Amino acid sequence: MATSDAADRPPSADDTGFPAHRAPRCSDLGELDAQLIRCRACPRLVAWREQVAVEKRAAYADQAYWGRPVPGFGPQDAALAVVGLAPAAHGGNRTGRMFTGDPAGDFLVKALHTVGLASQPTSTAVGDGLTLRGVRLASPVHCAPPGNRPTPAERDTCRPWLAAELGLLGPGLRAVVVLGGFGWQALLPVLADAGRQLPVPRPKFGHGSRVVLPGTGDRAELSLFGCYHPSRRNVHTGRLTMPMLEEVFRTAAAAAGL
Ligand code: SF4
Repeated sequence: MATSDAADRPPSADDTGFPAHRAPRCSDLGELDAQLIRCRACPRLVAWREQVAVEKRAAYADQAYWGRPVPGFGPQDAALAVVGLAPAAHGGNRTGRMFTGDPAGDFLVKALHTVGLASQPTSTAVGDGLTLRGVRLASPVHCAPPGNRPTPAERDTCRPWLAAELGLLGPGLRAVVVLGGFGWQALLPVLADAGRQLPVPRPKFGHGSRVVLPGTGDRAELSLFGCYHPSRRNVHTGRLTMPMLEEVFRTAAAAAGL
């Protein structure tokens, strides 16, 4: 007998189960991004991203904030992925593009441009002409969190979007640069679930760390690179310098065949 129980209905966009249900069903990154920007699965982050978009920062008072989940940015067949943390409240959450319109984005894109992976050294707004060569900017959490601190539960809820995005990049994905320990902790379970063989014990995050995972099936060997996040604090304290960031991307680009 056919049933119409609520349990049989697919989760709505504000259900915690929406990413796990929807992300694996997307057949390309365009569909994934279109579904992602509907997502309201994390009540705390939805409330924050929308509050920031209404209150705004004084310097951007005349701009319309995006105020929604921020999709990844870069080509569908990228050989190198960058896994960060989450969009900045007045950066990606304002402009609607990852690492765009905030100091961390400026620093990152300048480094990418220096090593030949970005068309220009600045990332200010959608439509500014920036294109990336062989690089996809991804994120373990797609909504701006208060204090730049998502909870582990929010990271886990958002994980299916990251898993699907990396899967859709295809077998040519050869390297991942992970910006900080949060991204590292988010990424390893995604790779394990995708059938990648991880070392035991699991490798720890560190700037300059490199882990090579063997290829599986038609998928190439995958090199992971740890790198400090280009946050304002890390840059201002000198923990992460431009030469350090450029060196990571230069090495990762070579590993990715770019
Ligand atoms: Fe959805 Fe991820 Fe945003 Fe949570 S953080 S609402 S799972 S897009």
